[in-house]
Amino acid sequence: MATADIIDGKAIAEALRARIGGATAELASRHRVVPGLAVVLVGDDPASHVYVRNKGIATKKAGMRSIEHRLAADAREAEIVALVRRLNADDAVDGVLVQMPLPPQIDAHRVINEIDPAKDVDGLTEANAGRLLLGVKGLEPCTPQGSVILIKTIEKKLAGLHAVVIGRSILVGKPLSLMLLAENCTVTMAHSRTRDLAETCRSADILCAAVGKAALIKGDFVKSGAIVIDVGINRVGERLIGDVDFAGAAQRARAITPVPGGVGPMTIACLLKNTVLAAARRRGLPDPEI
Ligand code: NAD
Repeated sequence: MATADIIDGKAIAEALRARIGGATAELASRHRVVPGLAVVLVGDDPASHVYVRNKGIATKKAGMRSIEHRLAADAREAEIVALVRRLNADDAVDGVLVQMPLPPQIDAHRVINEIDPAKDVDGLTEANAGRLLLGVKGLEPCTPQGSVILIKTIEKKLAGLHAVVIGRSILVGKPLSLMLLAENCTVTMAHSRTRDLAETCRSADILCAAVGKAALIKGDFVKSGAIVIDVGINRVGERLIGDVDFAGAAQRARAITPVPGGVGPMTIACLLKNTVLAAARRRGLPDPEI
């Protein structure tokens, strides 16, 4: 029986990071600009601490400055907003990222919207979400950006293909749907209220799962020859598994991302890409070739 190609997100992200490193070096040598990424971490969520540490390491490796601000779990919203405003005003900072989730007393939407859209490297402010909707150049969310790059390693021209995106979050599903629409896909957005998920999935040339439910998407949901992008990260015992039943889907798909080692590494790489873009654009320089 046919077995899918495995899309090696780790290797593709590494190659992307090398190109970002090149663009950063050029910004430094030609324009004396060293991009700076500031990450704000509130509270003690262990997974968030790991993410922030990994982002810091990757940022420095790409030749950029990494700035970390840690606030206590009982920090007040006004304190976080004041910090974001200071980072907005700091010319050495090109990217501002507030690590999610924020503690329950904080209105995350309000905090995110304080970020200067020019420094919004997560692409989550109303300004950047609006630009994506309008098809105007902005900073786009990292995980969907990484997902589209992975799809394009398999199929360069996506026009006319049917993409089914499962999940409609602000972070992944909605922006990914818009990006695939911008690539001229015919896009179906599926979600928790979709009536016949299996049948909807079976019509997809490109199937993207961003749900957060382990192995929700069974092998027989996958059309023969489809490209499958598994964004989900679910902890099951000691293991991390995706939203897609990998073994079953790999029997039918043309190509599929593994979990871990698929979309995950692309997210950080795209964050670095956004930081270089933000650094260049803020200074009126053309977008670096990446
Ligand atoms: P979310 O909880 O905000 O959204 C989940 C979406 O799934 C919702 O829109 C909901 O309608 C839909 N959904 C829930 N149950 C469903 C069902 N039974 N059938 C169909 N749709 C259903 O989650 P999110 O932030 O979008 O993240 C989704 C997954 O992606 C999580 O596992 C998360 O850990 C992972 N994630 C991975 C990365 C990465 O870098 N790889 C980045 C962000 C999120």
